[in-house]
Amino acid sequence: MQEVNKSDEIPEYVECPLYKKTIGIGACIDVQEVAARHIKERILPNEIREIIGFRSICLNCENNLDKKYER
Ligand code: SF4
Repeated sequence: MQEVNKSDEIPEYVECPLYKKTIGIGACIDVQEVAARHIKERILPNEIREIIGFRSICLNCENNLDKKYER
């Protein structure tokens, strides 16, 4: 069995610069999917959708899985 590097594990919670608080990884991935235009932005709360440039902030965030793992 292949060993998992602890630093490669996806965290349960992240500190989000958009929500300005700690959020669960599920909420984080919702924003990431919208930022990547994989799903409609209406799934997000207005407090996020109203932030100018929220997609760019999310795509460049250190917690963004595409950025972190270059997938
Ligand atoms: S990746 Fe996006 S949703 Fe997740 S913490 Fe960063 S800005 Fe917030």
